[in-house]
Amino acid sequence: MNAQSNHPSNDTTDPQFLGPEAGQQADGKAGGSARDVQAHELGDMRTILHIALTQPGVMNQAYRAFHNYSIGNQLLAALQLLDKGLPLAPIASFNAWREKGRFVKKGEKAISLFMPISVKRRADKDAPADSAEAGEGGTFSMFMLRPNWFSLNQTEGGAFTAETVTPAWDAVTAMAALDIIEEPFEHLQGNHLGYARARSIGLNPLNPLKHKTRFHEMAHVVLGHTAVADMHDDEALKRQIEEAEAEGVAYLLCALLDLPGQAESRFYIQGWLQGGTLPEKSAKRIFGAADRIMKAGQPVQH
Ligand SMILES: [Zn+2]
Repeated sequence: MNAQSNHPSNDTTDPQFLGPEAGQQADGKAGGSARDVQAHELGDMRTILHIALTQPGVMNQAYRAFHNYSIGNQLLAALQLLDKGLPLAPIASFNAWREKGRFVKKGEKAISLFMPISVKRRADKDAPADSAEAGEGGTFSMFMLRPNWFSLNQTEGGAFTAETVTPAWDAVTAMAALDIIEEPFEHLQGNHLGYARARSIGLNPLNPLKHKTRFHEMAHVVLGHTAVADMHDDEALKRQIEEAEAEGVAYLLCALLDLPGQAESRFYIQGWLQGGTLPEKSAKRIFGAADRIMKAGQPVQH
């Protein structure tokens, strides 16, 4: 692997997912209106989610171009290239391009993506000063925006042919990889399309958008909504936010795979964003879960 001295870690790998489990907020900038360039450069995931909702076609295109990256980074890359008036072409770090025999042109500005940065954990007051050294518990990863990537069009040199990838997702593979079981649908009270409990989901066979509901119910499981519930002061709000999160995941996956059902989801999520009531934490969780479910369903390739 290449290492440029100012690159804190492996500069061509991508976070597996952006989520509160692994990632931290890079900074405290709250997203008000969608002032696209500035806002997404700050890595505000609420804004990125808003853009995904208003420009659904970008997600599918971005996946085709940047499938090796997390969904959040795919969108970040696409939006920055579009801002520069560049097509959605392969991106790589300065050194990765050099290894492919291409060189970044003079004066080209890098695009920024989230990457994991290793941070040394501050030692507890009681712990010996050196206890955090290099040990497993000594460091943790934070996702930070770093301007390390250039598009093919910002480079020159030897010929380079991009690999084209068509988004694909297999439900059986994904369910197995995430340890989720589909059980025979139980008719509960009311007009349910599906449900999730513990690590099982049930899908109504009459559901016209079964794939969307599958994403939604899988998201409930992946996001931990079906784990043993703890008591909350505001149980109703917590439930609503969980529904918004699960539906956000379903939307992203439908948009990415270009499946029907996007319009049905969009309205619901937009309402949450426009009311300003969806926490940034939830936006990150939505991207994180969508990423995990997408990656879990990739056909095995060797
Ligand atoms: Zn739900």
